Amino acid sequence: MARAHNFCAGPAALPQAVLEQAQADLLDWQGMGTSVMEISHRSPEFMAVAVAAEQDLRDLLSIPDNYRVLFMQGGATAQFAMVPLNLIGTNGRADYINTGHWSTKAIKEGHRFGHVNVAASSEDSLFMTVPDRATWNLDPEASYVHYTPNETIGGLEFDAIPEVGNVPLVADMSSNILSRPLDVSRFGLIYAGAQKNIGPAGLTLVIVRDDLLGQAVDACPTLMNYQNVADNDSMLNTPPTFGIYLAGLVFKWLKQQGGLKAMETINLRKASKLYGAIDNSDLYSNPVDVRYRSIMNVPFRLADDALNAEFLKQAKANELLNLKGHRVVGGMRASIYNAVQEESVDALISFMADFEQQHAK
Ligand SMILES: *Cc1c(COP(=O)(O)O)cnc(C)c1O
Repeated sequence: MARAHNFCAGPAALPQAVLEQAQADLLDWQGMGTSVMEISHRSPEFMAVAVAAEQDLRDLLSIPDNYRVLFMQGGATAQFAMVPLNLIGTNGRADYINTGHWSTKAIKEGHRFGHVNVAASSEDSLFMTVPDRATWNLDPEASYVHYTPNETIGGLEFDAIPEVGNVPLVADMSSNILSRPLDVSRFGLIYAGAQKNIGPAGLTLVIVRDDLLGQAVDACPTLMNYQNVADNDSMLNTPPTFGIYLAGLVFKWLKQQGGLKAMETINLRKASKLYGAIDNSDLYSNPVDVRYRSIMNVPFRLADDALNAEFLKQAKANELLNLKGHRVVGGMRASIYNAVQEESVDALISFMADFEQQHAK
């Protein structure tokens, strides 16, 4: 059976080579007569997997030595609570930038833990743009500034890392981490659920500058305290071993592709041809400010919503899967993460053109 073109927003496509490796390893991993899921997380064999995964990630992102890499659970949503629990400090103040669905969720959760200042929001423009940095109203007392570099649902992506002075910058990179090179030193903390661009659901990645550890509020649960997790090399309790193993395979695959610079070139090419096809058609449109269009998540609408069901039906018949937009925005969305091959984007573009021709007035 052939693999379909999978545009799912998450859990998303994984590289075929990685899945084949996992398949080959499943029953008898490293000649041990067990799978990697069936051994102790404290065994030397598994510890080597975790160490290699961390090192490969460090190599890919050039993570400076004063940053810790944590393998956690609970997804990005748990980080919406863990970030304030660990970083909001005794004065309980934090800045948030609101650019869409996921930043709104982070803000809502943040309110439970202290005084959240929404320093800027593009809600007035229905989140079709990023608020101009000059208009941000930052709290001089804030313990951190939180933002969402890529809004997965709206398809809105910052085109640069915002300048916030000495205040730690915290980023939810769930849907754009590893899509291109990144200057990690600009951040206090980066987090990402794995299921978009890293590996399977169940693993959450945190990259944190070490001077930010040890500041959790007293009520912070043991397992959610970054300091404890770091002190125990992410093995305070049983970590998501299969997720770490599979993420490790993805990191090795990314290195084989030529690293993040090479991925950026491919990702920019994929996104620009898809946006080009949308912009050059009469049937499809994308409303996002061109400067801030996401290179990972491409939402688009059909001129007539009555065609949506037929579009999805025919797409599926052509093995183009999971194109339905998020329920809050409607329309379509093609998520084109690292593992989505350029051939899949080409197949989508060609299908979209055929569909438009069929429905030309
Ligand atoms: C998917 C996503 C989330 C939610 O992730 P979970 O791991 O399901 O909690 C949060 N933020 C962004 C930017 C996302 O893309």
